[in-house]
Amino acid sequence: MVAFTCRDLGMDCSFKTTGTTDSEIMKKFIDHAESVHNMPVLTADVIFKVKTALKK
Ligand SMILES: [Zn+2]
Repeated sequence: MVAFTCRDLGMDCSFKTTGTTDSEIMKKFIDHAESVHNMPVLTADVIFKVKTALKK
């Protein structure tokens, strides 16, 4: 089980998600970032931060 919250990135957002794999979380976060944070494209920096913030 992998868990991620937007707060882990320092964002003022209550989004949290869980999944079984890193890529599942990334997919959910990409959808969320696009619709809520107006970030259709994640920079390498953001992707790195998400991966670092994942809790297993
Ligand atoms: Zn968020």
